[in-house]
Parts: sequence; structure tokens; C-alpha cells
Amino acid sequence: HMPTKELQALDAAHHMHPFTADADLAKKGARIITRAKGVYLTDSEGRQIMDGMAGLWCVNIGYGRKELAQVAARQMEELCYYNTFFQTSHVPAIALAAEIAKLAPGDLNHVFYAGSGSEANDTNIRLVRRYWEVKGQPERNIIISRWNGYHGSSMGSGSLGGMKPIHAQGGLPIPDIHHIGQPYWYGEGGNMSPEEFGLARARLLEEKIQELGPERVAAFIGEPIQGAGGVIIPPATYWPEIQRICDKFGILLIADEVITGFGRTGKWFGSEVFGIKPHIMTIAKGLSSGYAPIGGSIVCDEVADTVGGAGDFNHGYTYCGHPVAAAVALRNLELLQEESILDHVNNVAHPYLNERWKALEEHPLVGEACLIGLMGSIALTPDKATRAAFATEPGTVGLRCRERCFANNLVMRHVNDRMVIAPPLVITPEEIDVFIERATKSLDECYAGLKA
Ligand code: PLP
Repeated sequence: HMPTKELQALDAAHHMHPFTADADLAKKGARIITRAKGVYLTDSEGRQIMDGMAGLWCVNIGYGRKELAQVAARQMEELCYYNTFFQTSHVPAIALAAEIAKLAPGDLNHVFYAGSGSEANDTNIRLVRRYWEVKGQPERNIIISRWNGYHGSSMGSGSLGGMKPIHAQGGLPIPDIHHIGQPYWYGEGGNMSPEEFGLARARLLEEKIQELGPERVAAFIGEPIQGAGGVIIPPATYWPEIQRICDKFGILLIADEVITGFGRTGKWFGSEVFGIKPHIMTIAKGLSSGYAPIGGSIVCDEVADTVGGAGDFNHGYTYCGHPVAAAVALRNLELLQEESILDHVNNVAHPYLNERWKALEEHPLVGEACLIGLMGSIALTPDKATRAAFATEPGTVGLRCRERCFANNLVMRHVNDRMVIAPPLVITPEEIDVFIERATKSLDECYAGLKA
């Protein structure tokens, strides 16, 4: 292909990137990824880069799986597209829905497909509001979520999320979405114990429901573990209290499992880690390991029967249950099972990475290192004892660390001054050694730069 500089110039001239400033593209040029295998990316300069983020938290099965390419090709030849509107269906959409229902806990037996996590959360807004309309309570339309939660970037899902930079542009949030504080003990817990803080943050939900009026609140949505917010693992007291409050007021509970689903936490769903019993789960990413764009909502019997039993639900996307994406996702779920990938996470990859990741707490820049399954984070701090933030603009040190990682051929993302990781679930102990070696070198260089 073309030389890197030419590709970068064309990219900057014609390609508008998500969450990226044009000026940065023009000045520095994009890193151009050309191929990938296992946990390694190759860029247009031929560099081998370890992907500690599985793309955007999605390539759970690892890169370059021929089985998935073959399934996609076969499906394109057999039935490249058909819709699932107006009482039509097709084999891949049916088979995948049945498989998802088998894997999902409780009576989460129904799948409403979407093309992405954002679309699925837009569906959820309409689905829970429709549920209460059918129940004869149309005024019950408020959805409560958390500041620093992430649910996508469309008008609806971006409103559900509590990301201030997203709300700062384009008039979000839409009406009747309200936010409460996040269960981020390390950054916001002050002198409370994690357990006290978890309860205090969960009780903000009860306060918000009382303030708005319980008869107005349709649903609460949260990620079992906030991903894009910085891999924030909530204190153990948090989710049971949220569950109790949702049950008490009879409001629907939506678990956004877009990152935490399909083995990322060592269970099929993050809800199972915390004993959450959601009425709806949002899924995407690991559903197809990112090989095809597909997402959806897994819906419990009561909500599906109520909405479905009341005539048309006037909602849907052209690509709901797209046959190629559905066939790829189904094969991906089969591979995860055939290769016992969850066992690998629980018995091999997590224990080894956890040991090495936790040891990073000895590093002078690292305040805490946490990991559930294969999603983790480290908090960078100038003062471990007080868990203080840096005096610089939030994210300055994190960005510097991310850049050192890139220079050392490792992808780690930063969220403000937390570094986050989510490697492919197939990562081996030998690859974990390379990961930790590159991460440590990057932290050392970042620390040296701060002292200079
Ligand atoms: N929900 C969560 C928890 C996510 O992390 C994301 C994406 O990162 C989304 C929803 C949005 O998914 P998508 O980018 O596929 O629209």
C-alpha cells in the first residue's frame, strides 16, 4: 500500500475521526494499523504493537481468527441481507438469539438487535418508556444513570451517559434523564471506607427517586463496572443496595454489559459478578469480538411480553439482526465455549496478570492497581497516602503515560490519570510478561519525565 505519510495526509484530508481533533491528525498523523493476529497489531511501518485494549474493549477472542472470516464469507454468499421487520426472520438471527438467551441469566430470554451499543441503549430508552405506557403509567418516563458512566454517543445513549465533555456539545442530555454520583471510592471516597462509600453512593439513587417522585421513574441504568469511566470497580456494598432500591420502588434495572459481557469479567456477564438481576442487558462489542458490528438488548419475559403483547413496538433499525453479523457473532460465542476461554481467563490469564498487575502498586507513580477478569486499571498519583490528584490538568500525566506506552509498542488507554486495560481474553502468560515489561518501562519513563 501507499507510504505512511501519504496515507496520513489522505486520512487527515478526508476522514473525520470519532473523538479526535482535526488539528491533531494534521499535525501528528494517525497511527495506521494494517493487520493483526492474536494480541498483536501491525502498523504501516511494520511495528508490532501489543494491544492491551482489545481494540475498543471488544476483540475478546483475539485477532485474525480464520473461522470467523469463513463464516462471514459463507453467510454473504447464502443470504447477505434480509430484514427482520414485518414478520420476517432468518436463520442467523434466530440461532443467535436462542444462544444468547441460553447464556444469559434468569429469564432474560428475548433479544432485540441493534448495530451497536449506542443503538441498543437508544432502544432501551424507548423500550422502558413503552413498557410503562402499556402499563398505563406514561408519566413514568425518567431514567436515572450515573455521572461518568458511558452508554454510547448518540443523542439518547450520550444522554444516558454522564460524560461531561459529551454533554458539553450539541444540547445533551435529552429531557427526563437524570444522573447521580458514581461509586468511585479511590477518587471521591474521602475518609469513608469503601463499604461506607458504596452504600452512600447507592443511596443517592433513593434520594433522587424521592426527589423526582417514584411515580415518575421508569428505570435505572448502570455498567456493572464502569469501563470508559476508568475501569471503576464498585465497592461490594454498592450493587446489592442499588438492587434493593430498584426492587423497593419497582423500577426497571438495565445493566449495560457492552464491555462486561461475554467473558470480560471471567463470567458470561458482569451482572453475575455482583449478583445483579437486571430486567434488560445491553450487549455489543464482545458479542462478535468486534468482527462484525452488532449489539442488542436482552430483555426479560415480563418486559418483552408486555411490550410485545401490546401491538407494534414502533422501533427498529435496518440492520437489526444482520445475517452476516449474526452468523459471525454466533460462531464467536461457539468458539468462546469450544476453547473454554472463560476457564482460561479464570484459571490462567487472570491469576497471572493479577499477580503482576498488583505488583505495580510498588511503582512510585501508582496509587492502586485493580483487575477483575481481564479488565483493569491503575490510578496514577503524586501521593499514594492521600490518593491525591496531580496539580496539572486531569489527564495530562495519563496522556504522557499513554504516549510512552505507544513508543514502547503497547496500547494502554488513559482516562484522565487512570490507565485502563482490557486485553484479548486469549492472552498467554508469556504475552502477559511482555505486557508488564512494556508497561513498567513506560511508567518508569513517565515518572522520570515528571521529575525532570
Ligand atoms: N455502553 C458501554 C458500557 C460502552 O462501553 C460503549 C462503548 O464503549 C457503549 C455502550 C457504546 O457502544 P458503541 O460504541 O458500540 O455504540
